[in-house]
Amino acid sequence: MKKVITRFPPSPTGYLHVGGARTALFNWLYTRHMKGTFILRIEDTDMERSTQASVNAIFEALEWLGIDWDEGPYYQSKRMDLYREYNQKLVDLGCAYFCTCSPEELDEMRKKAMAAGEKPRYNGTCREKGLAAVDGSVIRFKAPAGGTTVVEDVIKGNIVFQNSELDDFIIQRSDRTPTYNLAVAVDDITMNINTVIRGDDHINNTPKQMLIYQALKAPLPIFGHVPMVLGKDKARLSKRHGAMSVTAYRDMGYLPEALLNYLVRLGWSYGDQEFFTMDELIDKFTLDNIGKSAGIFDQEKLLSLSADHIKAADPERLSKYLMPFLQEQGCNKEKTYNINGIIKTLNARSKTLKEMAESALFYFQDKVIYDAKSADKFLNHTSAEPLKLLCQGLNSIEKFTEKNLEDAFKAVMDKTGLGLGKIAQPVRIALTGKTVSPGIFEVIEVLGKERTLQRLNDAIQYISEKHGE
Ligand code: GLU
Repeated sequence: MKKVITRFPPSPTGYLHVGGARTALFNWLYTRHMKGTFILRIEDTDMERSTQASVNAIFEALEWLGIDWDEGPYYQSKRMDLYREYNQKLVDLGCAYFCTCSPEELDEMRKKAMAAGEKPRYNGTCREKGLAAVDGSVIRFKAPAGGTTVVEDVIKGNIVFQNSELDDFIIQRSDRTPTYNLAVAVDDITMNINTVIRGDDHINNTPKQMLIYQALKAPLPIFGHVPMVLGKDKARLSKRHGAMSVTAYRDMGYLPEALLNYLVRLGWSYGDQEFFTMDELIDKFTLDNIGKSAGIFDQEKLLSLSADHIKAADPERLSKYLMPFLQEQGCNKEKTYNINGIIKTLNARSKTLKEMAESALFYFQDKVIYDAKSADKFLNHTSAEPLKLLCQGLNSIEKFTEKNLEDAFKAVMDKTGLGLGKIAQPVRIALTGKTVSPGIFEVIEVLGKERTLQRLNDAIQYISEKHGE
């Protein structure tokens, strides 16, 4: 079988949208699965709307997602000579022609067609004139007058277009720049792309591009048009459904693999499986399981998948992604904390990295900030004694193992006659500032002896200052 060659050709007119990222992902996964070549092409022929800032934003998003490319980036803006050469070739082949009809004449044609109740279309005035290029002329493709063009779509099945509907469409404008369909077809042909997976918003372009392929006697690629991503209200996904850019999800604290896993499931399935590692996706992704119906973007589902990926991630790797969020919270990055240990206490209880950083804040505080209500309730006369006893007990322990810590708590229970809850809650406030935290033994283990004792002593001090002892 021939080596699969795919492409992702974003138009740099804004950030990378989650829908665009899904198209990139489908192409990338398929290429990696097939051990093919994945090409990045920047479709920047629309000089007015294309910006370098958008190109950079697209690179940044792809890099964060881990979607790498084997060739490119190619820029359409640097290939203008090639498009001109192909346009001339199409004229020489008799498949296209120069047209000098003025805007007024075209307007007249449109009006006539409308008055006759027909679809406005070019009436072929210059089609057989064999005109040479003159200033201001355009090049039109000679669409077949009859018959059909059939897109054999691997996702949607055959889609039939009447050639009479296609019109003699323009392939080179009067300023000698190519139109969109010409540039795409020439690129896909010259880059030897043999598999084109794109959003079904492009489906009406496909027959025109196919006619250009056929005129140039180029072999057709496999086409697959993926249904659009919709919002929960079934409208096409847009800003009002929530954040649209890939990097917004990064900034909200999602792991790239969580977003990718979520995106791939919007239109592709593998039985009932929801959670996939990237290796599994590369192993399992084929075009056969891309669905015909639109995927619905559901923030809640994404959030729950995010929690699963945070739980599954290697703490060492997670720490790299967590760091910026910790810094955002004002955590001191100069100090070395047991970051892997911290992560292990929180990874089963955090939906996003942002949430994790907020929950981890107490580990980094030199002085724990108590939640006022909890401190009132738990740091008072009744807790002073058990806290002191626990301090003594912990002080004499060499190694903070779970068993040793349990014994130390038990000894306090025995001495005071209090239940574990009555002791653990003040300890929790003393160590974390809150009533909700990871398991108390885990927290003690991560804080280590010195910082645990410091915090317990701070709490004892707090009680004595506040309540007098
Ligand atoms: N540049 C087009 C876009 O960003 C993609 C065209 C294609 O895949 O053929 O939508």
